[in-house]
Amino acid sequence: MEWNYQGDRGPENWNTICSAFHQAESESLQSPIALDDDQITATISQQSLIFDYNKTLFESSFFNHTVHLSPKTNEKLNTVIFDHKRYFLEDLHFHLPSEHEINHESFPLEFHLVHRSVKNELLVVGVTVLPSERPMNTVFAAVDERALHPRVAGRGLTVPIELTRLLPENKQFYHYTGSLTTPPTLGPVEWIVFSQQTFMRQGLLQAFKKTVGKTNRPLQLIMNRPIYLSNN
Ligand SMILES: [Zn+2]
Repeated sequence: MEWNYQGDRGPENWNTICSAFHQAESESLQSPIALDDDQITATISQQSLIFDYNKTLFESSFFNHTVHLSPKTNEKLNTVIFDHKRYFLEDLHFHLPSEHEINHESFPLEFHLVHRSVKNELLVVGVTVLPSERPMNTVFAAVDERALHPRVAGRGLTVPIELTRLLPENKQFYHYTGSLTTPPTLGPVEWIVFSQQTFMRQGLLQAFKKTVGKTNRPLQLIMNRPIYLSNN
């Protein structure tokens, strides 16, 4: 079913578009939410999250109103272990501006690393992004503006990405259970959102704004669910 980020088929009306969307929204706790250091339920061990990311070739595509990058060959090459459970990276995509708010702050962009376990459980890592002109601190060095035009390029472009460089240096994270942020907004999804930002070249960020534009779902109610912050 067709949906959008504004108008009749915007986020406030997603649950009226079809029964599947309605069901997803009513049957699970929703994302994104506001993450606030004053609202933390408990701390969680920094060691409960382990990344095993490697340099990987990704292929770009365009759906759900944004750019997606998916591993071109071995999808089991990049894994995250969270709370002793292993999840495999299957997709990376972008939202503008950020979907999560961190201590009342919104950011120009947020990207999601979508992982799935062998039992079909979802874990999404959210990374908020700030612009930077300092070359040493920028990421997506290998991703140029052409990758944002997969429709023009036909089957999409192949881009090598060193995933570890996309993550902030400081790995302190929030954890909560929510949902996907695009319809059907199914849950449960285990969310990991870094408290620190990572950096993107200003020119690339501008290209995202021009090509992708507004693609963030508004904040959802927390509904008393626990929110954890790692003990950094
Ligand atoms: Zn997303």
